[in-house]
Formats: sequence, C-alpha cells, structure tokens
Amino acid sequence: MGVLDFIDTELQELQAQGLYIYIRTVESPQGAWITVEGRRVLNLCSNNYLGFANHPALRRAAQEAIERFGVGPAAVRTIAGTMSLHRELERKLAEFKHVEATLSLQSGFMANLATVPALVGPEDVIFSDELNHASIIDGCRLSRAQIVRYPHCDVQALEDLLRREAPKYRRRLLVTDGVFSMDGDIAPLPELARLARQYECILMVDDAHGEGVLGHGGRGIVDHFGLHGQVDVEIGTLSKAFGVVGGYVAGSARLVEYLRQKARPFLFSSAVTPPDVAACIAAVDILTESTELVERLWANARYFQEGMRQLGFDTGRSQTPITPVMLGDARLATEFSKRLLEHNIFAQAIGYPTVPRGQARIRVMISAVHAKEDLDFALEVFRRVGRELGVVR
Ligand SMILES: *Cc1c(COP(=O)(O)O)cnc(C)c1O
Repeated sequence: MGVLDFIDTELQELQAQGLYIYIRTVESPQGAWITVEGRRVLNLCSNNYLGFANHPALRRAAQEAIERFGVGPAAVRTIAGTMSLHRELERKLAEFKHVEATLSLQSGFMANLATVPALVGPEDVIFSDELNHASIIDGCRLSRAQIVRYPHCDVQALEDLLRREAPKYRRRLLVTDGVFSMDGDIAPLPELARLARQYECILMVDDAHGEGVLGHGGRGIVDHFGLHGQVDVEIGTLSKAFGVVGGYVAGSARLVEYLRQKARPFLFSSAVTPPDVAACIAAVDILTESTELVERLWANARYFQEGMRQLGFDTGRSQTPITPVMLGDARLATEFSKRLLEHNIFAQAIGYPTVPRGQARIRVMISAVHAKEDLDFALEVFRRVGRELGVVR
C-alpha cells in the first residue's frame, strides 16, 4: 500500500461516472479552425470571443515589447517588477471601463483571490450567488468571512437573507459573476446594486465573460446596465475576449491604492510578462477605436442560437454568445462531444463539478472570427449527431 493509492481509486471513479476530463492538445494558433491532435477542426470551445489570441496587431505589439523590455518582469511589482507597460495598461483599461483606476494581476483567478480577502475578514459576511465561479468561491474561503450562498440570481431570496444576516456582521460583501460562464445568463445587476445600497454591502462583480462582449463596444456588464459609479469592485480577465492572459481589478482610485498595499497575490507573486501586457494594450486600443468586432460576435451568436433552437436543441437560459446545449447525462454529453470531433467539430462536454450533476452539456462558444459557412457547418453536424443520439428528431 502506497500513501498515494487513493489517487487510482478516485480517477477510476471519475471515469466510471463519465466525469473524467480528457485534455486535448492544440497544435496551431487559436482561431475559427485549429489543429487538434493532427486534425483540422472547427473551434467551438475557446473564450477567444473576438479573435485577439492570434490577431496581427497583438502579435506585433508582443514582439516589439520583447525587443524593448525583454520577456520577464524579474520581480514582484512592489519591488522592481512594475514596468511602464503595466502602468500604461492600467491607465488605458481604466479609460476604457470608465473607472478611476485599475490594478493588473496575473489572472482573473488571481484577481479574485487578491481582492476578496483584502475587503472582508472573519468578522464579515459574504453573500455569494450559488453559481459563482470557482475563483470567487476560493477567494471567499480564503477571506475566512461567513459565506451565505443565495439561490442563482434570485433577488427575492437574496433580500430575505440580507434582511436576516446582514446586521450581524461588521462588513458585508455582495459578489456575483456578471455573465455566468456555463449558462451564459446575466446577473440582475441593477437589482443587486439597489440591494447593496439598501443593506450597505460592498458590491463586486466578476465581468470575465462580459468584457469585450457586453456593453458599448465590449465595455462590460456595468456599461450594459448603465450602472457606472454604482459597482464598487469589478474583476476582469485578459484571457478571454482580450485574447492574452492576465487579470485586473477596476474601481475607485482609493480601492486600487488599498489593494496595492494589501492584496497578497499582488505583493507576493510576479506580474505578467512584457509581451503579454503589450498585447493586452493593443487589444484595448482596438476596442477603444471600433465596435465592429463586438457587433460581429453578437450577429454570429444570434444566428447560431436561432439555428439551434429551430433544430429543437435546448440552449438553456443563455443571453450571451455562450451557448449551452443541454443534454443532462454526463455520458451522453461525452459521447456527443466525441462524435462532433469525428465530424471535425471541437466542442467540449462539461459535467460535474463544473456544472451541477444531471446538467451536463456541450458548451458552444461563438466567436467573431467564425464565418457564416462555419456556423452553417456546425448546425448541420449538430443536427446529424443530435439525431443519431436521439436528442432531436
Ligand atoms: C474564466 C474566469 C475566471 C478566471 O480567469 P483567468 O484569467 O483565466 O484566470 C474568473 N472568473 C470568471 C467568472 C471566469 O469565467
């Protein structure tokens, strides 16, 4: 008996339940079509909403940054790792988002781990949507505050909990995903803002799937609802629509100054590299200049989702380009994904624990770089596989 033998048992269990994740290897740049293990496939599962991951302007910016700044930040930002590039990105992001300031971090995941424990502690309470992203959940746990989960987007249930629980604590944080990444629905942010004011909560929204997607020219969920100045903390990622890697916090100048002093992933982990930052700056520049890519993304999403519904597929409660194709059983979803790949379509099955048990699905991600012919091809293959597996008639 070895001390790590439990690993074999657990992995076998995952396989038996259809929950084992098979990680595919991509051998080409990201785009509408990619090479996966030797096969040219239509890519329906990236978060590269606007095609920035392999955009010529971003590539050029990254190359020039390597020539000017090299490849590494060489220290944590508080010691010697803050370059003029990081400052420029933070300033441009703040202008783009119409906030006073932003703080760049290594990833969206890190941004949540950095922010929640800096804002609340053991004497405080967090009200958290039950479907919030894992990084929010982990940030909340790290803070050691009391966590009150409320039913998904249920404003009435939240208010009942606030009325009962909020007065018992020193500080209150209300935190939600902006766009829920597995369902594509949008948090009821105007109502949450009203409740946050009424019950004196810090309001925090993670806009990872909203920026570059929602609002004017992709300015995010706060812009989408016209709530500028009413959301205390916004978390962002630079790895989805922005196409690169990194995360950030957006809000008031005093919030950002406080996080520079207190946020542990900022103080104890190095910054993203010069080429990453330069590419992100190029992405913000493009979005600041033109809304064209965001409009194309939405036109593609509407076209595909309408087509899927006409075929009889259940696309859940999506309000965004995230398109869940609800199948229920995890093994059915895995088989569906496998057959899609046989027809040269790359779309991953998602099961527990990423989504609740019994709600397995194929998650289709639409991008501005898909051509109409690509979407027609996808609809045709979904129809064929859907019939083979008895999902649609
Ligand atoms: C993807 C995602 C993250 C993580 O972002 P990374 O930059 O990839 O670490 C955080 N929050 C939400 C809601 C996400 O969807």
